[in-house]
Amino acid sequence: MRYPYLNLGALNKPMMDSLEAAATKVIRSGRYIGGKECEDFEKKLSEVCHTDFAVGVASGLDALRIIFQAYKLTGRLAPGDEVIVPANTFIASVLAITQNGLAPVLAEPDPRTHNLDTSRLEKYISPRTRAILTVHLYGTPSFDSALCETARKHNLLVVEDNAQAIGADASCASPWGTTRTGSLGDAAAISFYPAKNIGALGDSGAITTSDASVAEIARSLSNYGSESHYHYRYQGWNSRLDPIQAAMLAVKLDYLDAETARRRENALAYDKTIINPLVTKPIQVPGAVWHQYVVSTDKRDAFRAYLESRGVETAIHYPIPPHLQPCYAGLRHGSLPVTEQLARTIVSLPISSATPTEDIEAISAIINSYQG
Ligand SMILES: *Cc1c(COP(=O)(O)O)cnc(C)c1O
Repeated sequence: MRYPYLNLGALNKPMMDSLEAAATKVIRSGRYIGGKECEDFEKKLSEVCHTDFAVGVASGLDALRIIFQAYKLTGRLAPGDEVIVPANTFIASVLAITQNGLAPVLAEPDPRTHNLDTSRLEKYISPRTRAILTVHLYGTPSFDSALCETARKHNLLVVEDNAQAIGADASCASPWGTTRTGSLGDAAAISFYPAKNIGALGDSGAITTSDASVAEIARSLSNYGSESHYHYRYQGWNSRLDPIQAAMLAVKLDYLDAETARRRENALAYDKTIINPLVTKPIQVPGAVWHQYVVSTDKRDAFRAYLESRGVETAIHYPIPPHLQPCYAGLRHGSLPVTEQLARTIVSLPISSATPTEDIEAISAIINSYQG
């Protein structure tokens, strides 16, 4: 018996006819940039994220980069300004900061949630701190009253990296009364990389915000910086959401609630059935959407090999944190022992909505038989 980590073909199977029909419609339309598919999907996405606006772009990284560039253009950020970001995030969160000439300040996560330790944000604040990039890692909302309080006190922008958490809800409401990730901060980036909770059939991403001026600048930046045809206000990019991907995503968004419910059932099944003292389970945060189910164990590589020998595919998110990557060899940062310890001990288990709960229970039984 094999337990695949993530089988995208199986995941997309129930919606294959709708995807094919939607793709055919775009192919036959003769319009392959912009248009109704993009507008309809953006409207649907803004409704899911509880924001006034959604702007489709070419990837999650571009969404983050365009958000920071937009805030530089509004004067809220300037080159050299510091942005607090969790040290254990995916590389793209940090790339978006440095590629905008901003300075990442790597913050240690809370090892229980893997998200920013919001009770300790003050120690990362300097006179140059202007923003927090909070990352809803593994689908767990990273937003609470301590984060809001620190942001308010120091007049910081709050940008959300919502790449992994579409449809999640924080337990604490934002200053504007919303709880849905993507609507909590000033602006948010989402990724539709195929393995994300809503995945395109290729790359794409989006910016969600209720700030009309940021939405407008972001849309312009994604289209060469144009304000109208052949008039360029900013030095922008070509980073647009393709209508064929918008059409795929509109179909998939209809399955979001059902898929999220399946992920939550699977996470709960692991929580009930894994009872091995060598394996630490993630805490059950209300409102989480379980992009990953991440356990930790001291002899991680032996544990993974044991599972692999019994057919269970696993993954690591992420084995090497950004500050230890060659591309950031020159980055100044303090010691990050929590981040490095997590990178050595974490293991992601299969959690996809296409994984039946019986398989989750079978995987738990294999995990419980592991003796180190
Ligand atoms: C996937 C991801 C991104 C980048 O999204 P892409 O669409 O792959 O560019 C950014 N941040 C996090 C946390 C991610 O998981």
